[in-house]
Amino acid sequence: MTSAPRPQAAGLSIVVPLYNEAAGLSDLHRRITTVAGRIKAERRMAVEVVYVDDGSRDGTAEVLRTLAAGPLDMQLVTLSRNFGKEAALLAGLDHARFGAVLFMDGDGQHPPDLMETLVSRWLDDGYDVVYTAKANREHEPWLRRTAVHWFYALINWGQRQPIPEDAGDFRLLSPRAAAALRQMPERNRFFKGLSSWIGFRQVRVDYEPAPRTHGTTTWDLWSLIGLSIEGLTSFTVAPLRVASLLGLLLAAVALLFGIEILVETLIFGKDVPGYPSLVVGMMVIGGVQLMMIGVLGEYIGKLLSEIKARPVYFVAEHTLTPAEDHVEATSTTRAERVAK
Ligand code: UDP
Ligand code: MG
Repeated sequence: MTSAPRPQAAGLSIVVPLYNEAAGLSDLHRRITTVAGRIKAERRMAVEVVYVDDGSRDGTAEVLRTLAAGPLDMQLVTLSRNFGKEAALLAGLDHARFGAVLFMDGDGQHPPDLMETLVSRWLDDGYDVVYTAKANREHEPWLRRTAVHWFYALINWGQRQPIPEDAGDFRLLSPRAAAALRQMPERNRFFKGLSSWIGFRQVRVDYEPAPRTHGTTTWDLWSLIGLSIEGLTSFTVAPLRVASLLGLLLAAVALLFGIEILVETLIFGKDVPGYPSLVVGMMVIGGVQLMMIGVLGEYIGKLLSEIKARPVYFVAEHTLTPAEDHVEATSTTRAERVAK
């Protein structure tokens, strides 16, 4: 990790993770600077945008270098390879210099216009975590929605602060919420879960996601399954509890079955025609055991990677371009700049 400066309370950092987003980037930057420039002027606070290039292979870094800072301070953080979205989000959070942090996808699906609403919910209504949710999911395949539903049922099982089911990564954290998020030490990160877990005043904003401006989603079925397992095992021990309950259930069934056999043999004097039931029983128990060893293994893997305590990402390049009008930034900002 880098020696990112301590964030100052006043101001807003917009973090945008980018993986192969070269095609839509200039357009996105234009939209961000328009809206965020307006926010900066109206709210009289420092605003920066932090682009994190997560090891893109399509020239995203080159496009980034051509962008003009415009009204916002602009940071370019290039990671040493592709580390995944969670790592890119953390890199952005680590580099954000201002207290409040807004996270937004770089593929155009998170409409920059909504930033004004998010900022208003934070500054005018005093919310700490302003998260967005897709207004309607009806068009998504039934199987996917059901899977998502079960995923959240499991991850929220026994949680005091459940993760809202359809919340996305597009969200704004107030300075104290962002500070709380910065204190979360884990390396296996599930951003949505963490920013819900911290508590404070949370509010939901519905929005209509735009279609991707270009390319296709990087999540295929397997990476979604991977992400779900990752999210579950890094966030909750609910799957272990499922294992215990299944064990209990199987034991109970076995007991009842045992009693039935006893009764049949002793009272009715029947032979026990054992073979098929034996095989089925063995296979069921064997399968469940193997599955649960797998679940245990996931957690041991998590332990291992937390204990190794490797950095979540490496930064290959980092630049900061001040806003074109950076003279009018707040006095603390300037004082800190001079002090550096
Ligand atoms: N992303 C990233 N690293 C990755 C994959 C994705 O930084 O390894 C970024 C990507 O550029 C985009 C955001 O994460 O800004 C969301 O990715 P995507 O649109 O593929 O996911 P979806 O919108 O389907 O959840
Ligand atoms: Mg997307």
